Amino acid sequence: ANDSVGWQFDNSYARLPEFFYARLDPVPVRDPQLAMLNHTLAESLGLDFRMLSEQEAALLFAGNVLPEGSQPIAQAYAGHQYGHFTMLGDGRAILLGEHLTPAGDRFDIQLKGSGQTRFSRRGDGRAALAPMLREYLISEAMHALNIPTTRSLAVVTTGESVIRETLLPGAILTRVAASHIRVGTFEYVARLGNSEAIKILADYTIDRHYPDAATAENAHLALLHNVIQRQASLVAKWMLVGFIHGVMNTDNMTISGETIDYGPCAFMDAYDPNTVFSSIDQHGRYRYSNQPLIAQWNLARFAETILPLLHPDQEQAVALAEEAIHTFSAIFQRHWLTGMRKKLGLFNEEAEDIELIETVLACMQQHQADYTNTFRALAADTMPQDVLFQNAEFITWHARWQARLLRQDKSKQASLSLMRAHNPAIHPRNHQVEAALAAATERDDYALLQRLLAAVTDPYSEAPEYQDYRTPPLPSECVHQTFC
Ligand code: AMP
Ligand code: MG
Ligand code: MG
Repeated sequence: ANDSVGWQFDNSYARLPEFFYARLDPVPVRDPQLAMLNHTLAESLGLDFRMLSEQEAALLFAGNVLPEGSQPIAQAYAGHQYGHFTMLGDGRAILLGEHLTPAGDRFDIQLKGSGQTRFSRRGDGRAALAPMLREYLISEAMHALNIPTTRSLAVVTTGESVIRETLLPGAILTRVAASHIRVGTFEYVARLGNSEAIKILADYTIDRHYPDAATAENAHLALLHNVIQRQASLVAKWMLVGFIHGVMNTDNMTISGETIDYGPCAFMDAYDPNTVFSSIDQHGRYRYSNQPLIAQWNLARFAETILPLLHPDQEQAVALAEEAIHTFSAIFQRHWLTGMRKKLGLFNEEAEDIELIETVLACMQQHQADYTNTFRALAADTMPQDVLFQNAEFITWHARWQARLLRQDKSKQASLSLMRAHNPAIHPRNHQVEAALAAATERDDYALLQRLLAAVTDPYSEAPEYQDYRTPPLPSECVHQTFC
């Protein structure tokens, strides 16, 4: 039955020199059971798991049975974690291979939680069920918000326990990505001082993600500029929906420009640029407002790894790299401003728009207004009964904004529909995520999780049955910390 699923493996990464990875199979698990399977994603990949029995699907997504054409490897990488360089690698993940869709698009199919590898260090190579379900839910929510991201095809439970602070049910997530090439992949190669390998990796990356760069006068400089543009656009999208990645280490930054590694990530409810959720981010390095700066810092680490490719004269290479890195802020700002204008229904540009945006954000911060709901209320043209909308300063701002809307040759209706398309009604609220994960992992009841998933993957709709997901947490329900 596995043959008729539609797998079309072509494993280009596994054809690179073995320097970049280790060959090994996933470690089979005792009693795999299917917890989640994303048929919508499967269909978009040209795959169909409906003809598999639940047991066959569970064996497949556990790595107990390997799909035809796969060539399992663990990828080597390094990374700056909280600013400190470390050699890493897939310590609990196995890349099964690259699947080609009927349209010819190439996707990594990776199992996460699939057992120890030579990169495991002191880790057990395994994953607990709740964080894997969390990654599934949040990554699919991000995709529905039109934010580039790795995706989640399946979760299986393993029938084995993992030892964390307590014993937890084990699980494996199947992650689908444009690739798993990270800033840290380049750092790994650069640290080993292999100049031939860095060129192989850079050329491979250009071929896979930025084919247009190949024809540029300086292809590797074009690669750098392309990655900067993708990341600036990505982080702007995070900021616009109130997403906090939580662990923006360089090993968690892709070269493709997809969001990766859903650990302690979370969305803000009340707007506060200083928000930090991650329990281990004690100095707030990865707080909401710092994300653009960190992205730029990470990109500088990327640029350093390809200096030998940028120019034969290293002084000139550094100058080119610095010039490229300096473009980040303006590109980010442009994406952010474009996005904010859409959130406020603005089609044209005025110099004072930035100030208009900053004023409403400051007002929201001062009144701890709900980020999602405030913008959605503006999009609905309503003045809810909450503190913010009764505030004199806000009312003054609102009148200014209404006047601003008139200074464009678009109707109010056009503005409102632009706003409804760029201001989600629903985001995964932490307290609701926790409740759904608790029901699934503690009581084996997936109904809440399935319902929440349905809501967050349709984030712009105002379906009355999902109205409860638009209610901010009560003070007693607020989740202040998330864990890896
Ligand atoms: P992360 O903090 O999720 O980005 O992971 C950082 C590094 O730790 C990566 O190289 C992971 O492969 C590795 N890692 C995380 N959890 C485990 C685990 N349970 N066993 C082995 N390696 C792990
Ligand atoms: Mg990671
Ligand atoms: Mg992680």
